[in-house]
Amino acid sequence: MDENSHSLSTTPLTDSIVHSPYQGQEEELLPMASRRNIAPAIGIDLGTTYSCVAVWQNNRVEIIPNDQGNRITPSSVAFAEDGRLLGDAAKNQTDVNPTNTVFAVKRLNGRRFSDSSVQNDVKYWPFKVVAGPSDRPRIVVNYRGVEKQFSAEEISSMVLVKMKEVAETYLGCIVKNVVITVPAYFNDSQRQATKNAGAIAGLNVMRIMDEPTAAAIAYGFYKITEDHKEKSVLIFDLGGGTFDVSLLFVVHGKFVVQATTGDTHLGGEDFDDRLVDLCVKEFKKKYNKDITGNAKSLRRLRTACERAKRMLSSAVMTSIDVDYLYDGVDFSTRISRARFEELNKDLFTRCTDLIEKCLSDAKIDKTGVDVVVLVGGSTRIPKIQQLVQDFFKGKELCKGIHPDEAVAYGAAIQAANLSGQGDKEVENLVLVDVSPLSLGIGTTSTLEKMLFVVPRNTPIPTKKQKTITTMLDDQTAMSIPIYEGESTETKYNNLLSNFYLQGINPAPKHVPDIDVCFDIDADGILNVSAQDRSSGHKNEIVISK
Ligand code: AMP
Repeated sequence: MDENSHSLSTTPLTDSIVHSPYQGQEEELLPMASRRNIAPAIGIDLGTTYSCVAVWQNNRVEIIPNDQGNRITPSSVAFAEDGRLLGDAAKNQTDVNPTNTVFAVKRLNGRRFSDSSVQNDVKYWPFKVVAGPSDRPRIVVNYRGVEKQFSAEEISSMVLVKMKEVAETYLGCIVKNVVITVPAYFNDSQRQATKNAGAIAGLNVMRIMDEPTAAAIAYGFYKITEDHKEKSVLIFDLGGGTFDVSLLFVVHGKFVVQATTGDTHLGGEDFDDRLVDLCVKEFKKKYNKDITGNAKSLRRLRTACERAKRMLSSAVMTSIDVDYLYDGVDFSTRISRARFEELNKDLFTRCTDLIEKCLSDAKIDKTGVDVVVLVGGSTRIPKIQQLVQDFFKGKELCKGIHPDEAVAYGAAIQAANLSGQGDKEVENLVLVDVSPLSLGIGTTSTLEKMLFVVPRNTPIPTKKQKTITTMLDDQTAMSIPIYEGESTETKYNNLLSNFYLQGINPAPKHVPDIDVCFDIDADGILNVSAQDRSSGHKNEIVISK
């Protein structure tokens, strides 16, 4: 395996996972009926800030509430004196234990520590992230006086274990099979990391599914309409950490994701940041005190800002109050909805710019969009709703399903479909996703030109082959760099991996035929192989960054 490939963590996990409530007690504890029952497959929306789990039961989707009665669970993990805490229990103690409360690790999954987006994120986080082997981010916490490090996949697996536990408590049986959703814009490495997290959590990940596709399914667009006409559906998904906009075509219950675009770094947390910055400046001006070096104060301020932001979705004015914010000084300020909108104007505009990009990728005019669906907690912001509605010239927006539940809802339908536990309608569901970025290899002697193998928006699963050759006489080995991106110059694209083929039969330059095959599975995970036709020598890898 390539040194950059993901493998399941070898770190002992006995200490890092909260086990299922039925772990090891399957036979003794489970009611007789459940023992006989096959556990239904579940759908998990593994979100940046919140996660949600749903199941198809009694011919409908049920969103599963957690132990606090909440239908969404914070994607937070805390390492506290009295043990490891997950979900609400973790989030609720963030203010008193900020450096050991980990959240938003979805932003690290499948990334390198040196990635600019990671560098940008860690600046704002109160917990520590360092570079590990192969430039992988490692999350550092202090657990009962001992320093511990975890990979992003390990932390994600703890969130998944929590969601599994929520489902098991509700269903009364062990859950194994699952569909997990990811942003449509996630690259191969990020999908693989999510799959690894599922495996670490002891789950059988039946499918990694795009969030917008799941949302479209939730709204029933898999149902065959009477007119049998093709429908174009735009999914606008603005969550806590990511923004996705996708255009799907639905016909005869079949889905084709025509185009997806987005920003892996745009969401509710960015709006929170703007409020935090405003308050930090105000505190400095009023009291001449800088709170930016104090993780606990920053965290408490952020919690108050997020609360105010939510309030401003229903009220036009609210206050941000934090007692003893810093150095024994209280903080209190008033903020209007208009001011909040002004602070985030550029971020909100970016959302509509990305709708334009998606439509242009899909080669469709805004008037050709039949349905617009709002997904993600941040679409509760009235200004966002208004901007989207104005963009589509007053079109009615679909927001009937709770925006933070729609993705898990659709994932549960897909899980029922894959496990054969749904009804007739669900059984007929066919999904066609696309590869969101073009994939190719570096060619010419300096490897600077991109040879496109799989064009952007190709429906997956797919298998595409190109034949390349040697640049030197008697060349017996070659390096094959694999890129994703749209530029014809590889330096502007993203290097996914660089793999090596040896054992090419010596021959004059340009004579050998090397078949390079890109195979993308239904989860969007890429397998690349290269084979010298004459010697039969072959090398292949599963690509991960
Ligand atoms: P999601 O990732 O879809 O669960 O969305 C979570 C994000 O939605 C967080 O940033 C929340 O602060 C935000 N959010 C939830 N409810 C509201 C609301 N009523 N108004 C504004 N933002 C909200």
